[in-house]
Amino acid sequence: MAKLEVIDLHVEVTDEEKQTSKEILKGVDLTMNTGEIHAIMGPNGTGKSTLSETIMGRSAYHVTQGDILLNGESIVEMPVDERARKGLFLGMQYPAEIQGVTNAEFLRAAINARRPEDNQISVMDFLKELDKNLGILDMSESMTERYLNEGFSGGEKKRNEILQLMMIKPSFALLDEIDSGLDIDALQVVSKGVNSMRGDNFGSLIITHYQRLLNYIVPDVVHVMMGGRIVKTGDASLAKELEKEGYAGLRDEYDLDV
Ligand code: ADP
Ligand code: MG
Ligand code: MG
Repeated sequence: MAKLEVIDLHVEVTDEEKQTSKEILKGVDLTMNTGEIHAIMGPNGTGKSTLSETIMGRSAYHVTQGDILLNGESIVEMPVDERARKGLFLGMQYPAEIQGVTNAEFLRAAINARRPEDNQISVMDFLKELDKNLGILDMSESMTERYLNEGFSGGEKKRNEILQLMMIKPSFALLDEIDSGLDIDALQVVSKGVNSMRGDNFGSLIITHYQRLLNYIVPDVVHVMMGGRIVKTGDASLAKELEKEGYAGLRDEYDLDV
């Protein structure tokens, strides 16, 4: 079992253009174990993406107070690739294109980066696993011979991101708005992929604006983030409540100026 702990996390974001910094996260606490799926909901601009970017270690996000522990070890000072090797995965809102690298090459390299030199995945095993996962995601094999994300449609990028997730098998996947821009068919496929990962060795933090996704990927725990803090935590029914009542009620309840 793996554990991810966010403890009293304060984060400042640097705006490169304006050369200014601003505190976005103002004391976030969150603990999750593998075997669990957590969802974070909240209004736009409240710091949800900042949280996932900070857990993954993207530059521009500066931890000014608090800590992030993976299996008890602080990861705050680790570069992104080291965090990935230790089992974290961030699904990007806008997955990048990588020129000159095919999807399959990228996947094998990413898998092998997490394995010791003397235990790299064999081509046979890789292809077998790839084939299985392409089937689950209803993706054509030709997608894997194309350059990573180059000319992919929005839906193809999302499916591909879930393919990466299924191949790399991280301990924790941070999935930020994987539902944005998906039609209902693509949403079902993407959800099927994530659900196929469920098990004792996998945990996920699903960030979403809308409750709709959570009908397909039913979370064990739902957190509401407002104004850079988690203001409420509950089970899957909390998401349904929010969908009905919006965030306004919570604003009043917690006297939030956000
Ligand atoms: P959410 O994901 O909840 O919509 P974000 O974490 O994206 O919220 O943004 C929270 C605040 O931090 C916003 O005011 C946003 O403009 C700011 N912010 C986030 N990332 C950056 C960045 N890389 N550069 C400048 N400002 C940022
Ligand atoms: Mg945003
Ligand atoms: Mg966001």
